[in-house]
This record gives sequence, C-alpha cells and structure tokens, in this order.
Amino acid sequence: MLENDGAAATQRLFFALWPSAELSAGLADIAAAAARRFGGQVSRRESLHLTLAFLGDVPGEAIPALLAAGRQVVAAPFHLQIDRLGFWRHNRLLWAGCAPVPGLQALAGELVAALAAAGQPLPERQRTFAPHLTLARKLPAATSIAEVGDFPCTSLPEWSCSRFVLVASRPSAAGSIYSPLAEFPLSA
Ligand code: NAP
Repeated sequence: MLENDGAAATQRLFFALWPSAELSAGLADIAAAAARRFGGQVSRRESLHLTLAFLGDVPGEAIPALLAAGRQVVAAPFHLQIDRLGFWRHNRLLWAGCAPVPGLQALAGELVAALAAAGQPLPERQRTFAPHLTLARKLPAATSIAEVGDFPCTSLPEWSCSRFVLVASRPSAAGSIYSPLAEFPLSA
C-alpha cells in the first residue's frame, strides 16, 4: 500500500484494524443471519473493520502529520477472538466484539497519544475507546439487547493483528466507500 502524500482536499479519515478475508467472510455470514433475525442494513463484507481512532474531516495539509503519528506508534502485535454481538440502541447499531485485550487498548492509547503529540488531538468525546466492528445499522429501536447478546457468534478464526491502517471514507449510494491510504506495522 502506498502512502498518500496528503496534497488532496479535505477527507473523512479514521485509523482502523482490518480483518483478514476469512474473518470478514465469517463476520458477514453472522451479520446476514442476525439481520434476518433482527432487521437492519448489513455492512458490506469488504467494509468490516475495527476503528481505533476516528478523525473526521481532515484538510489535506494535515495528512502528513497523521502519517507521521501512525509511524510513531510503538505497539506489539496481539490476537483478538471475536466472539460476541451487541446492540447499541442510541444509534441502532449491531456490532461484533471481543473480551478486553490489553494489546488492543495499548495500541489505541498509543495512537491517541501520538496524534496529540503530532498536533492532531482527537476531540475529548472521541477518546473513549469502544472496540467493535459494525455488522449492521438501522435495526429497529425496540431490538432486544438480551436477544442480540444470545445470538450465536462462534467459530470465527482468531484475528492476528500485526498492522493498522489509515483509511479515507466517502459516502456512496451503496454505503460508505473506504480507501486505505497507509498501513503501519506493529512490532514488539
Ligand atoms: P464513517 O462515518 O466515515 O465512519 C468510519 C468509521 O469511524 C466507523 O467505524 C465509525 O464507527 C467510526 N466513527 C464515525 N464517527 C465516529 C465518532 N464520532 N466517534 C468515533 N468513531 C466514529 O463511515 P460509516 O461508518 O460507513 O458511516 C456511518 C454513518 O455516517 C452512516 O450512516 C453514514 O451515512 C454517515 N455518514 C458518512 C459519511 C462518509 O463520508 N462516510 C459522511 C457523513 C455521514 P461506527 O461503525 O460505529 O459508526
């Protein structure tokens, strides 16, 4: 993946972990089954991701500082086992998640610190890290959180996280289109 030189106009950006094709396929199957049960619009398989830091609209001239911040992050690789579903009523969102993993929390913390040091701090309200992969949106508001929690989310492959990415997001009729701008390896 080539790094963008940042000369472009404003872009909507976020840092994320991107699952393997195998894990994405398993998650997409679960999303489809859950949407048949609960309703909602499923995320596209190729769009599934776990956001580490959402930056929002960023002017092109700030992108080099974001790339530098990503390169400054020192964090070890880790593994995630996605094994649970949840429903957030406030935004009617169905998500997949995992037990707390220290390596994931450390990575998100390092990234927030690197962004602040690079003069690109996240707004206060976006510093609370709630790791999840959005499987579907626009579920009925009355969806039972307990029933979603009981819905099967098993047999997914372990997620070996060894890199994170900076991604641009733009809307389209088929949902947001994500374009990777740069990737950053994790190393002990
Ligand atoms: P997105 O809004 O660009 O979000 C990209 C990623 O950042 C997602 O993982 C999202 O989390 C996360 N994120 C977004 N806002 C955040 C915030 N304030 N704090 C923390 N994390 C945040 O693209 P999207 O997720 O496909 O779209 C989400 C909704 O925003 C859709 O209804 C879309 O129509 C609308 N929207 C999109 C754009 C765009 O340019 N893509 C512009 C305006 C509005 P979640 O998955 O948990 O949302």
